[in-house]
Amino acid sequence: MDKNLGIYIHIPFCAGKCAYCDFYSLAGHEKLMPAYQHALLYHIREYAPQLDGYLTDSVYFGGGTPSYYGCDRLISIFNTLKKHGHILLDAEVTAEVNPDSITKADLIRMHRAGFNRLSIGVQSANDALLKSLGRRHDFAAAEETVRNAREAGFRNISIDLIYGLPSQSRDDWADTLNKAAALKTEHISCYGLKIEEGSQLYIYKDSPFMPDDDTQADMYLYAVETLSRFGFKQYEISNFARRGYESRHNMKYWSGDEYLGFGAASHSYIGGVRYNYIADLEKYSENVLSGKNIVDLGEEISDFEKASEYLMLRLRTTKGISEKEYTDIYPCSMEKTINLLRHYESQGWATLSDGRWSFTPTGFLLSNTLIGEILETQTKQRSEMIKPWEKPEAAVLRSQLTLFDIKPQEVQMFKGI
Ligand code: SF4
Repeated sequence: MDKNLGIYIHIPFCAGKCAYCDFYSLAGHEKLMPAYQHALLYHIREYAPQLDGYLTDSVYFGGGTPSYYGCDRLISIFNTLKKHGHILLDAEVTAEVNPDSITKADLIRMHRAGFNRLSIGVQSANDALLKSLGRRHDFAAAEETVRNAREAGFRNISIDLIYGLPSQSRDDWADTLNKAAALKTEHISCYGLKIEEGSQLYIYKDSPFMPDDDTQADMYLYAVETLSRFGFKQYEISNFARRGYESRHNMKYWSGDEYLGFGAASHSYIGGVRYNYIADLEKYSENVLSGKNIVDLGEEISDFEKASEYLMLRLRTTKGISEKEYTDIYPCSMEKTINLLRHYESQGWATLSDGRWSFTPTGFLLSNTLIGEILETQTKQRSEMIKPWEKPEAAVLRSQLTLFDIKPQEVQMFKGI
């Protein structure tokens, strides 16, 4: 049976570099756009035969700034995918756009070409903050982009916001949330600012102008509560949607589903292998055309790693995890982890509903630590399951037998292996 697939296209070009950004994106490299486009189209056509057996139900153009790359190029890539990428008619097709690099005419053309979802980089409703971040638009331009998108026919619009900005007060964040909600989009992502090494903001890392962890945590909980009042249901740590408008593409990442990336620095997970391409757009373009290696890192994911990723990624979502789903991927008891989750529940960090464990908003705030503890517990549980004198295959088999409630004599037989 055909499997569903998400396709991601990375566009590593921007009009300017934002102060907080550490993504692979370059400003001032417009001259390289034609060669990059040529390589992308070539790469998609070259890869096409390997897409047999897949049906693409989501396409995502991310960056960088796809709108700065130009809507002609985006449409041309999408047309190539329509020809070679087994795209379903009802696929979710998203492009990230910034208000300063997209016109109404562009949006009309993109919608006609089949793009049906936009992710708009709004970030804040405070023009002074936008300026200090190196953003090239003000909030009025963001409002205009949403209006233009509606008039162009887009019925599924997401906006990105950032909180915990330098000198940002809680009132300022509240104002941004209210104004963002008034845009009446279907989806909102809220990211806490992280000062990454390599970004321009890094010099302010320990500055008193930065909201401290408690203030950021407050802003986060305030966002969860406010957006829920406006009808946005939280479905992932940083993502909120009206019912039925959860991002299909991003859900693939959190559900361990397969996706295929094209472009420099893009990531893929397909056929049990996870890999990423080199974060160097010139090298990517040259090597694609000359048939040289473009893979930076790649690894086959074992069943235990798959199960660990299941815990790590699913616990980011409000759908959470179930013992059955975990043991279907890797047969290992979750007894100790369930005890840990019960402890989290008593602290108000986790909740159990219909056999599924998920974090509460307070739990999401601590999710890095909590997920770390869960992974450690599961790893210990697994090593207890594998005795040093047993062959690994035998240990897996024993765990399967244990899980499926075997009779004592079968255990006896097994011990003889
Ligand atoms: S527009 Fe996005 S990708 Fe480009 S520099 Fe700004 S944050 Fe980074």
